[in-house]
Amino acid sequence: MDRTDPLDQSVASLGGIGKQTASKLEKLGIRTCQDLIFHLPHRYEDRTRIQAIGALKPGVTALIKGKIELTDTLLRGRKSLICRIGDGTGFINLRFFHFSAAQLTQLSPGTCISCFAEVRHGYAGLEMIHPDYKILSNPKQSVTEDTLRPVYPLTEGLSQSLLRKAIKQALNLHLKNLTDWLPESLLQRFNYPTLIEAINFLHAPSEQTTAETLLQNDNPARKRLAFEELLSHHLSLRVVREQAREQLAPPFSIDETTRRHFLKSLPFQLTGAQQRVITEIEADCSRQQPMLRLVQGDVGSGKTVVSAYAALLALAAGYQVAVMAPTELLAEQHFRNFSAWFERFQTQIIFLTGQIKGNTRKTTLETLEDGSAGIVIGTHALFQESVTFKKLGLIVIDEQHRFGVHQRMALRDKGRNAGIRPHQLVMTATPIPRTLAMLQYSDLDISIIDELPPGRKPIVTSVIPSERREEVIARIGHWVAHKRQAYWVCTLIEESEALQCEAAEKTAELLTQVLPDIRIGLVHGRMKAADKDAVMQDFKSHRIDLLVATTVIEVGVDVPNAGLMIIENPERLGLSQLHQLRGRVGRGKDDSYCLLLYQSPLSDTARHRLGILRDTNDGFMIAEKDLELRGPGEVMGTRQTGQMQFKIADLDRDTDLLDNIPTIAESLLHHSPDAVQPLIKRWLGETVNYAEV
Ligand code: ADP
Ligand code: MG
Repeated sequence: MDRTDPLDQSVASLGGIGKQTASKLEKLGIRTCQDLIFHLPHRYEDRTRIQAIGALKPGVTALIKGKIELTDTLLRGRKSLICRIGDGTGFINLRFFHFSAAQLTQLSPGTCISCFAEVRHGYAGLEMIHPDYKILSNPKQSVTEDTLRPVYPLTEGLSQSLLRKAIKQALNLHLKNLTDWLPESLLQRFNYPTLIEAINFLHAPSEQTTAETLLQNDNPARKRLAFEELLSHHLSLRVVREQAREQLAPPFSIDETTRRHFLKSLPFQLTGAQQRVITEIEADCSRQQPMLRLVQGDVGSGKTVVSAYAALLALAAGYQVAVMAPTELLAEQHFRNFSAWFERFQTQIIFLTGQIKGNTRKTTLETLEDGSAGIVIGTHALFQESVTFKKLGLIVIDEQHRFGVHQRMALRDKGRNAGIRPHQLVMTATPIPRTLAMLQYSDLDISIIDELPPGRKPIVTSVIPSERREEVIARIGHWVAHKRQAYWVCTLIEESEALQCEAAEKTAELLTQVLPDIRIGLVHGRMKAADKDAVMQDFKSHRIDLLVATTVIEVGVDVPNAGLMIIENPERLGLSQLHQLRGRVGRGKDDSYCLLLYQSPLSDTARHRLGILRDTNDGFMIAEKDLELRGPGEVMGTRQTGQMQFKIADLDRDTDLLDNIPTIAESLLHHSPDAVQPLIKRWLGETVNYAEV
């Protein structure tokens, strides 16, 4: 990296920016002048014209000018200062909840004033709360601005005006030094402006530019920058992938006897798809470069045993294996499965989560450090500072969609030891359509398990209004009388785990009352791990007939005798999540059912969505539909811990840009390799340090 590049100069080199401001800017990821230039406005304020008070409507943000008619402090309710402003066309109230004595005198009747704020419905007509205002010396004084005023994302302690000034300086000094890394031919092909034009357009709209033009989706300046940003994100993954390929990994090979021994000891035969994926994994692991493979397979397709086979390869070569699951429950289940499958092998398998503390933790960590444990299974606690491995050869990450891209890369780095990197196997049941995969998984090769184990019957799904709740409850009674088990899943808006748990508790109580002969258990996210575990154990060993749960059981839990699931308020969840939930049933040989018990009335969209779920059991198709209905932003963003943050691109708005990106990235890597690092630095910043995440 060229340190002398003026764009790399620290923000502190600009006038008016001291140490304190610099450290605040850093919170926004802004360190250099280039970072400032690429800190783009997220909206604009239109102070180019004065609006008549009489024509104001609630919800609009407007610049007004008028005379103070009346000033009063209200003591009723919350103490506030009210100023009534008139301009001849009408009146509006300004309302201040915080005000000084000086303000009281300043805002006295007869004063001319201009204000800018959002107009709202108030207690007595329209009002503006805490407007940005200016006292005018005479009514003729000009208050309009020539151009739209950009509004930037802020952080605490930074003001718009400070940021605006800093960006203006950076633009004046350094805009000319910006290199446009997109080839001329590309700009022509898409009709994009040059980089400098685009940046200027967004930071400093010209006088002719209206707010409408700026906000238009297909505005070429915005589109061009969004494209460059998405391209850079994709490139960063490609580069990571190439760098990883240059690392050394331990090549694994396995003798025929061990292989047969393992496969024979399994309680089932692998499906054709499992065998194919295993072959792909084996080929990867026989190389000296680290495997970076994603296994996609619908719920119940049998991904776990595939990862166990990969673990066998590592063990046979004398290396350790770390298996990471997103929840304790799932980690425990893997622990049990692995323990059973490796029973005949002399391998110590250990369990590690954040809950394991004190001496147990100490000894657990020791077995990893001295190499006596071959496999460790746990949650993300596996990758904490204090965990060290003697000879880690393979990392398995289950249900990848729960972890972000950068988290995954951090883990990869964590396993590095004496220049040797572990192989990495990532598993997910949420297929991501190809277009999005390139922003998420371009650092990985992809294998697909597209076949379910034999004998599985499709889950019969029905959509039922909550008015028929009693009927559904009666059905549970019959079901349990036939020695089968069932789930009752309470869903609520995801953000409120507390409410969700409460709902589950109430439901469990209620069901206990109406179904007194049935053994009912409850699991939710707020229970202690040990208690949760005890209930799950009871359910697995059929000491519980009906398990009332929150969406904590979403991933991976496996109880073949439980063939009936009731999902309450399914209209609140995404399709893929519902499909995951439903995947808990249909794991045995018998018929299985999923009842979607919705709250009526159902909107047309919701009806359509639930209909898709009723009509298909194909997770890939459901994921496609989910994407179509909810948009990529929602599918990729909110459901993810390691959210993808963009400066200007918006996956929902810019979906059309995605298709071209892989080929353009390819050509750039080929023909202008020098452009790649600067682009990544420009858009992802130097903050992307995978080792530190
Ligand atoms: P997922 O892909 O959803 O993680 P699991 O690995 O949990 O699926 O497997 C689901 C169930 O299917 C488990 O009970 C597992 O033991 C079983 N299973 C896996 N592979 C096969 C197979 N080839 N034949 C029969 N059962 C299998
Ligand atoms: Mg699984």
